[in-house]
Amino acid sequence: MSSGPSTPSGSDSKRQRVLPVPKAAANTRTFEPDSSIVSDIIPSPNHGDRNKGRQPDMILLHYTGMPDVEGALARLCTAGTEVSAHYVVLEDGRIVQCVPEAKRAWHAGVSSWAGEDDINSCSIGIEIVNRGHDWGYPDFPSRQIAAVTALCRGIMLRREVPSHRVLAHSDVAPSRKKDPGEKFPWHSLANSGVGHWVQPAPVVRSETLKIGSIGDDVQNLQQALAKYGYGVPVTGKYDGPTMDTVAAFQRHFRPAKVDGIADRSTLTTLHALLASLPPEVRAIAAK
Ligand SMILES: [Zn+2]
Repeated sequence: MSSGPSTPSGSDSKRQRVLPVPKAAANTRTFEPDSSIVSDIIPSPNHGDRNKGRQPDMILLHYTGMPDVEGALARLCTAGTEVSAHYVVLEDGRIVQCVPEAKRAWHAGVSSWAGEDDINSCSIGIEIVNRGHDWGYPDFPSRQIAAVTALCRGIMLRREVPSHRVLAHSDVAPSRKKDPGEKFPWHSLANSGVGHWVQPAPVVRSETLKIGSIGDDVQNLQQALAKYGYGVPVTGKYDGPTMDTVAAFQRHFRPAKVDGIADRSTLTTLHALLASLPPEVRAIAAK
């Protein structure tokens, strides 16, 4: 049987397309992948040494926030852009490694968690291909989530990363970042042992703390957020940074409503998370 006209723009050819390797990456030295489920290496020159030999014990999840994967890979793998990540997870579940885990990739920017502010030195960065809030913010395909989950599980085992240190970029930089955002299915990762999670308390009508609120209740909220790891100043005043931190908390742990207003559901979920931290972590957080 003779074949019909070829359809290079058909969905099959799109699905099987070869990965676009940015030109600049062709000159960068390649390396052995750290994970057996990596399908491609596209080396990025954008990395350095981890400060003071800090070994990574955190995984930071991002979305690429760009219209297409070609542009995202080019940005992450071209000298001069000053950004990179250890891994990029494509929508079809393929995993690309760009920076060896031993090296310090440049993905976190100005950020802080649990008293540390050199997050790049203590973390492994994973970029998840998704256009993000500025470009329509599509759902994450389940194949992609399965790949992210498997990648994280491997890193957690190899690097002894505790569940409560698998975090969103928005957690460590609440006033600057939204990624990977409220559509990211943290609950399904948690079902596979990745990330710390409790069932969020339902949203009901309740008293709230919000911009302008002042007093002990605000101070207690800030203290609880800081205990969990957020870099929020404890002032007793519900200011801009407090609102941004509450929104980041909601994006990750109570995604049904992200408004930066601390309602009862937000507070209950936060305290349930704190109570379910491993005892040794709670002891440190209480100091
Ligand atoms: Zn990010």
